[in-house]
Amino acid sequence: MRVTTAFSRLLRLGTGVVVKGVRFGSETVVVEVALRRQRLVCPECGHSTRARKDTRPEMSSWRHLDLGTWRLELRCQRRRLWCPMHGARTEAVPFARPGAEFTRDFESLVAWLATRTDKTTITRMLRIDWRTIGRIVKRVCDDELDPDRLAELYDIGIDEVSWKKQHNYLTLIADHRAGKIVWGCEGKGEQAADRFFLELDPDPASPSPPPQPPVSRPREAPEPAIMVPFGPCPTVPAGHGVPAAWLADSLELDPQLLARASKLRAVSMDMTGGYAASTRHYAPQAIICIDPYHVVQVRHEALPIRVGCETPPSGCRGSPGKLRAV
Ligand SMILES: [Zn+2]
Repeated sequence: MRVTTAFSRLLRLGTGVVVKGVRFGSETVVVEVALRRQRLVCPECGHSTRARKDTRPEMSSWRHLDLGTWRLELRCQRRRLWCPMHGARTEAVPFARPGAEFTRDFESLVAWLATRTDKTTITRMLRIDWRTIGRIVKRVCDDELDPDRLAELYDIGIDEVSWKKQHNYLTLIADHRAGKIVWGCEGKGEQAADRFFLELDPDPASPSPPPQPPVSRPREAPEPAIMVPFGPCPTVPAGHGVPAAWLADSLELDPQLLARASKLRAVSMDMTGGYAASTRHYAPQAIICIDPYHVVQVRHEALPIRVGCETPPSGCRGSPGKLRAV
């Protein structure tokens, strides 16, 4: 088997990508690849064309997953095209995201490690710098974050994490059924929870951007003005109806959006009260549960440190009075 065939099978860079040559350096393996397809594809929008912008190719390189102790680098001469939406662009490759200096496989590894360990460990393990990790994680999230991750939430948890000695907070929403974090924002407490619920069910009264009614379209007869989640009301003409139900022309409510908070059955949280207040406002049907972690934490603070002592020793924090009903 030729070395190019072996690397082609080994790397699996996608359809239309062929390995043209392999060079071994002292610490790096350089794999030269070429695109077999005739059409040029815009990396931003997928627009494809047979026309090249010019005959000048652009040499690009990407770092791929290491081969043991060898650093593996891909190189490819890419053609340039003219995209009607994005202008001059270098054609897309199936194995790397637009603007990336790493292959998709490498970036997936970095993103997975970022969910399991700290950045310092990743920098030492993969030999990349601290800021590169952040850029890769953002690229992977922008590309692969499930847009429907908020669509089917039933049992969720809300809590915050802190860093820099509790000067900074990040509030996270977990989908208990999927076992995943589905949403997050800076800050904590009721305001952070409010932001989640407003994103879960956007306020139809303040759409962004506001719809612009068509100016030139003639209106022959009054249109039904009240929109309800299941469609326009056929019996109420324009200018009449419930004020709270008014919507701008051409704006319709998405029944799926309105229904998402009402699907929540249970929300787990701490005992601070802010998350509970927000949940009672936006999802009053949901059962508010206290995390076992927080219950055990309060219980430990309430108990004497030394087992068997009748009175808590000095320095023993907390008291049973800290337990509060929700
Ligand atoms: Zn484009």
